[in-house]
Amino acid sequence: MKKFRYLILLLFIVIIFLYFYHKDLKDDFYDTINHQFLSHNYLEDDKNSYSNFSLAQDKADKEVDRILDGILKHQYDMDNDIRNSIELVYHNALDIDKRDGNGLGELNLYLKDILSVQNIDEFIHMGIKIENDLKVPIFTNITIHNDYKDNTKNIVYFYPMTLAFSSSSFIYVDEDYMAYKAYIKRGIIQLLKLYGYSKKEASTIANDLIGFYEELGNHSYSNEYYDDISHYYHIVSLDEVSSIYSNIDMNCYLMDKIGEYSGSYSLVDDGQMRFLNHYLTNDHLENLKYYAFVQVLSQYASVLDSNYMEVVLSLNHSLGGERKSIDELSLDMVLDMYSSTIGNILNSTVVHKKNSKEIEDMFLRIKDAFGIMLQNNQWLQDNTKKEALLKLKNMKLVIGMEEFREDIVVSGDTYLSNIISYQQEMWKREVDRLYDGGKENAVSESVVNAYYQPLDNSVHIPSAFFYLEDDIKSDKYFRLGYLGMIIAHEVTHGFDANGSLFDKNGNYSNWWTEEDREQFLSLCDDVSRYYDQFEVIGGRYINGKKTVNENVADLGAMRVLVTILESDKANGNDYREMFSGFANLWASEESEQYQKLLLLVDHHSPNKYRVNAVLSSTDQFYSVYHIYPWNGMYQKDRVGIW
Ligand SMILES: [Zn+2]
Repeated sequence: MKKFRYLILLLFIVIIFLYFYHKDLKDDFYDTINHQFLSHNYLEDDKNSYSNFSLAQDKADKEVDRILDGILKHQYDMDNDIRNSIELVYHNALDIDKRDGNGLGELNLYLKDILSVQNIDEFIHMGIKIENDLKVPIFTNITIHNDYKDNTKNIVYFYPMTLAFSSSSFIYVDEDYMAYKAYIKRGIIQLLKLYGYSKKEASTIANDLIGFYEELGNHSYSNEYYDDISHYYHIVSLDEVSSIYSNIDMNCYLMDKIGEYSGSYSLVDDGQMRFLNHYLTNDHLENLKYYAFVQVLSQYASVLDSNYMEVVLSLNHSLGGERKSIDELSLDMVLDMYSSTIGNILNSTVVHKKNSKEIEDMFLRIKDAFGIMLQNNQWLQDNTKKEALLKLKNMKLVIGMEEFREDIVVSGDTYLSNIISYQQEMWKREVDRLYDGGKENAVSESVVNAYYQPLDNSVHIPSAFFYLEDDIKSDKYFRLGYLGMIIAHEVTHGFDANGSLFDKNGNYSNWWTEEDREQFLSLCDDVSRYYDQFEVIGGRYINGKKTVNENVADLGAMRVLVTILESDKANGNDYREMFSGFANLWASEESEQYQKLLLLVDHHSPNKYRVNAVLSSTDQFYSVYHIYPWNGMYQKDRVGIW
């Protein structure tokens, strides 16, 4: 009898223990719903993440490989020149022995010429030649892009410089990027050693170069500056550009690049340009020579021989934890160069086969629900509300490839020569757009993604998006939480801090009253503060300010979905399906290294918080799951804008 009493006591203790320590969906919805997924440890050594997106991307990649194979076997009816080019580049790219034999090829001459420059005038002359022949930025990073205020036109933007291995100047002055900076320095040293410098020489040159990048960074705007689209749009006259770049004859410089252009220029980072101009003196000649040298070598490293490719592969591995093979890197380049041709075939095989009707219907329902939310909005004045509703009404959905553009024909002997002529032809096309107003290349059809484009006020769904819907549950509300979430998120981007600066026709023009805008921005600040509280890994928190637009889109999208369920008079089970679909969408595993990188560079919150932080701010989640202050998902202060 005594024994029995002890047993009861023990059972009681276990129950108490489980009650307090057992985590369930009231404490961590994301982990509980995705328990099966997360407990599998799918992450392979050479990969940095595993998610429903990466699974879908793997399927899309397989289809792309199949299409490429079909092109090489002449299975598709297509332009002969393009097919020949694809064949040529494909064989060029994967013939590593030939590439190893070819070494630095025609780059050799340019690199030697840079190093033998005697004075600053010769340097400027040489720099311009490199820019024009090889399309490597030395003095300016000139880009042709839509005029934000009139999207029927394209204008010239001077973007901040792209430095070695696609790095930006801000990483050289931002403390958070110390590791990043060290990896890039190591990459530069490896490039120089491959060229023939001793370890000691290479280290000295790399140190000086990093010093130059840091100075450049000190004169540039910080990363956050670019979060605000109004900073990109800084229209100046040609005279102003010329006065900033007083050491270069800008009239000649621009004539070489863009011909007799009389339109506008947008100067994105004038501080950086002023610094670069002042740096062009004989005192800095040595550093400038190595700067140009490394610009060329780092930009072309991935298409040179296997040793140079290895530098890029190991750098990528250090930065993000993903390890690709030489063949994979080569193939990526081919797919990228011929993405329009391959995307067009993918588009015709996928979009017409899959269920785009479901996505179209969801988009219409989401727009309706967003309209209801705007009508019921308490803080917008009537005029702003009217404009917001007009913008929403005008928003379009674009599924698959909108406009097919012929890819570029090449016929050179070597991989490198084909890549160079490809770059030159690409630039010619860019310049043509400056005069004929043509659209720029959209996001690739083979990327599993969706995006809102403020410049045409449209939500775009590339073909590969449809691989996401393979194998998901058939329940209507589960699918709404999963696929509908993505669409609603993109619709809400039209009304985040950047998207809302564009009007119903996709032009950058203000449709807000001053008070409404102030109120909107103050609500954005609340969202930032709310997300700042979440600790992701050991002392590293979400950057609320950097991720604010994505969080606003997530929160707004959940409000949209709830509004749809409300108008359907959905029951508790329907809500549970929708919330589960939403949590399942973002199921993912990432290596710790990759998580740290994402916290630095990604404008989205980590997936777990994209789910939990949103639901903790959703009243209906509380009522459906009976969440109380002692549950982990409980938040006293809830946020949301729309
Ligand atoms: Zn987004």
